[in-house]
Amino acid sequence: MKIVITGGAGFIGGSLVRALTEQPQVTQLRVVDNLSTGDKANLAGLDVDFFEGDVQDAALLNQAFRGADAVVHLAALPSVPRSLRDPLASHHANATGTLQVLEAARRADGPRVIAASSSSVYGANPHLPKHEELVSAPMSPYAVTKLTTEAYLSAYHHSFDLPVLPFRFFNVYGPGQRADHAYAAVIPKWISAALAGQPVTIHGDGTQTRDFTYVGTVCHVLTDALLRRVVNPCPVNLAYGTRTSLLDLVQEIEMATGLRVRREHVPGRIGDVPHSQADGTRLRALFPRVAPVALQKGVPATVDWFRQRLTTSQL
Ligand code: NAD
Repeated sequence: MKIVITGGAGFIGGSLVRALTEQPQVTQLRVVDNLSTGDKANLAGLDVDFFEGDVQDAALLNQAFRGADAVVHLAALPSVPRSLRDPLASHHANATGTLQVLEAARRADGPRVIAASSSSVYGANPHLPKHEELVSAPMSPYAVTKLTTEAYLSAYHHSFDLPVLPFRFFNVYGPGQRADHAYAAVIPKWISAALAGQPVTIHGDGTQTRDFTYVGTVCHVLTDALLRRVVNPCPVNLAYGTRTSLLDLVQEIEMATGLRVRREHVPGRIGDVPHSQADGTRLRALFPRVAPVALQKGVPATVDWFRQRLTTSQL
């Protein structure tokens, strides 16, 4: 099976490439990435064909998609705050980029397309847990780009018979996630702060909740979807219905690091949703063999990865 991963040099992409290299049915892995937020170091030592460039480059996609059986489309400018600063940049990379990927898939005789949407599409809809039939209410330009992504997948399935599978990722975390940039996610940022003896910055009172999903779990589902050729034109939540407040998360990090962590509260952020918890019914029905990794195991594994990096960088 020949698989293309757009955004394969990123956090989730790099983990997925690593997971897929262990699958005997996977004969070739190709990565398309412009390295805007990703890093080739995430693919170090892995046997991949690397196509450096933008998913908006149709000629590059033609080359990368030739003869492919499946495409996992992860390339995007992630982050809500980034989309507030530059909505058009997020739109071009995420929405136009998805349309280009689908067009290239059509030209390449229809490899299956799995793509990453986001829990942010639920936005202002207060209903919990979030099941896929809820009305979406995006609160940020980023969320709109992700809603567009899944809508385009569904449209290409119905219009052109393209086999598709849009997933809504929920706060993915784990080894390999960067802490060293302005738009870093909360878990790497806080683990990194804790290990450096610095306070963690909590936006708002910290009672907001998230359904944190370990990257190994995400890769397990994606691998199963690829190998069993799962197709579903309606979006599928990729999270298991856990609900952790940011205050509880700090405690998990304290337990995993063995360090006391100072909390610093600052005002809440525009575009942030108050609560996010998936209804995992559709996911469990489609992927009954996947057992999720709990936060109590995933956070210590992530702390270990950060500690190893610190040790290596000090050598
Ligand atoms: P990441 O920033 O580590 O990875 C994104 C990758 O895409 C990077 O390697 C980047 O260089 C590449 N890229 C960006 N724009 C590109 C373009 N125009 N052309 C080619 N490559 C491009 O982010 P991630 O956390 O690994 O996210 C992967 C996907 O999952 C994204 O689509 C993101 O929106 C989605 N997602 C992530 C989370 C999460 O919690 N990490 C949650 C919801 C959705």
